[in-house]
Amino acid sequence: MRRCVLPIAAAAMAVLAVSCAGSHGGAPESDESKTTGSGQDSRSGQSESPSRPPSPESVAADELGFVPVLMYHQIVPEPQGVYDRNPDDFRAELERLAREEYVPVTAAEYSTGAMDLPAGTHPVVLTFDDSTDSQLRLGVDGEPADDCAVGILRDVAARHEGFRPVATFFVNGDPFPATGGRKALAWLHENGFEIGNHTLNHAKLSALPAAGVQREIAANQKAIADDVPGARVLSMGLPFGIQPDPARLALAGSHAGVSYRHRGAYLVGANPAPSPYAASFDPVGVPRIRSAGPDAEDAEFGSSRWLDKLADGTVPRYTSDGDPDRISFPEGGRAEVAGEHRERARPY
Ligand SMILES: [Zn+2]
Repeated sequence: MRRCVLPIAAAAMAVLAVSCAGSHGGAPESDESKTTGSGQDSRSGQSESPSRPPSPESVAADELGFVPVLMYHQIVPEPQGVYDRNPDDFRAELERLAREEYVPVTAAEYSTGAMDLPAGTHPVVLTFDDSTDSQLRLGVDGEPADDCAVGILRDVAARHEGFRPVATFFVNGDPFPATGGRKALAWLHENGFEIGNHTLNHAKLSALPAAGVQREIAANQKAIADDVPGARVLSMGLPFGIQPDPARLALAGSHAGVSYRHRGAYLVGANPAPSPYAASFDPVGVPRIRSAGPDAEDAEFGSSRWLDKLADGTVPRYTSDGDPDRISFPEGGRAEVAGEHRERARPY
């Protein structure tokens, strides 16, 4: 049975406690008088006024804030454990994200900093592990079933303008058996979803020698490339959240003539992830948050509680300035811009 663990919860809490100390707390007051142009609301800055996004102050931009990377397993009517959600709860979580002005981005868009979002909105990364039929099942018409995760996500996106129907799927060998791997992966790729690597056999990477780690990852990348020749695999979901030794083998390696290079390797627990522009961002182990209701087991590490903390300012949340060429954040904030992004930094 595939089972994930929460190995870093305590450490994660300590890191966040330090990160949040001395932060600016809640969002600065909106100042309409500083908004450039007129009639812009927080979601229309880009589409209606492409030349001048609103001022960062007016939307409380903070592009050094934290990003929730949510982790899902099976979406089934009768969840078998804390990693599963039922379709109604899954839909309700997506509705909440849309209501709170989150915009889904893929793991690769997040880790590479390629997040071109409307001013005032927040990125969220939706990730799915283990390539099960409950996540994607194509019907005879070639479209996702209404009750699979992709079907629900697309339906919610259709009802909420700006809520992009994108996600990252960390797949194993022989993915999505009811549909067939080749057909399912091709559909994901053609429809803007990201295909990530979760190893060929859902391997516990810490138990393998370096060559075995690279074989598990490279062989799965080859299987993905055989099914979808155009797919570039840029993200890796660590099975059980367990890193190989050395951990960097999750990011780069090769086996039997196949090389892989990932821009992010994703853990299982248990807190919001740093901005990709922050000095604290480390692609070798990006934290994820397990999707969970407010009263679930270990709810303090689950999505409902973390989304509460991101909404009320307990944890500073990434808020876009609407301008992909600059990185805006409140002056005197607690986070530091990573060296490679410093030229674009714009404190206010
Ligand atoms: Zn898994």
